[in-house]
Amino acid sequence: MNVISLRAFNDNYIWLIGNGHKAAVVDPGDAAPVLAALAERELELVAILITHHHHDHTGGVSQLLAAYPDVQVFAPAGERLPAPGAIAVQEGSRILLPELALDLTVLEVPGHTLGHIAYYGNDLLFCGDTLFSGGCGRLFEGTPEQMHHSLSRLAALPDHTRVYCAHEYTQSNLAFCHAVEPDNSRLLTYMKEVAKCRQQDVPTLPSSIECEKAINVFLRVAQPEVRAAAEMFALRELNEEHAVFAALRRWKDDF
Ligand SMILES: [Zn+2]
Repeated sequence: MNVISLRAFNDNYIWLIGNGHKAAVVDPGDAAPVLAALAERELELVAILITHHHHDHTGGVSQLLAAYPDVQVFAPAGERLPAPGAIAVQEGSRILLPELALDLTVLEVPGHTLGHIAYYGNDLLFCGDTLFSGGCGRLFEGTPEQMHHSLSRLAALPDHTRVYCAHEYTQSNLAFCHAVEPDNSRLLTYMKEVAKCRQQDVPTLPSSIECEKAINVFLRVAQPEVRAAAEMFALRELNEEHAVFAALRRWKDDF
């Protein structure tokens, strides 16, 4: 099985999962790069996985369905479905795609949107706009408590899980992590690796759960240094992890 990044818009990634002559895509905001990649690699699209309703994640669905009418579309049960006939999935739903040797389970991860889901299995995590390398999605619909809980669930996945985020935001996210945790040596090393990738125009993703737990301040709200920095920003004591998270998210919004 191969997971390939397809660029869309300014900084989106559409993930193409290929195996033999079959393929699935995650969050096809635009059909054109998907159709081109399928043709180039001689792959037949069998499934579309949607993490949330935003147009930059769903905009290509109808055009892909026109080209591949038998494709199964999976989308969050808690949101408007991206196509008639889409299969609504929720916490615990299993998605078995034997043609791709793919066995995924749905995790509900509200915060960025209220119905946002992630797909986990085969040591892969497709997390949409919930977790980014060095960051997390903006809270358009959910509360800080919800997002903190969602991120904690993702952080509890096995360390070696490969994390396929939907945007190339890593470098700017790390500048924020560095402002919060200037003495995190693992972060400094990672910043150099990421800068090199960006210079060479190579994706910084996938990341891993192990890496994110070491460098991403939004997963590090229990660290005393992170809490102290968030308290400096909030100008008050923050006794609960979700309050530290909320302060970091507000700080990042204006960063
Ligand atoms: Zn979004």
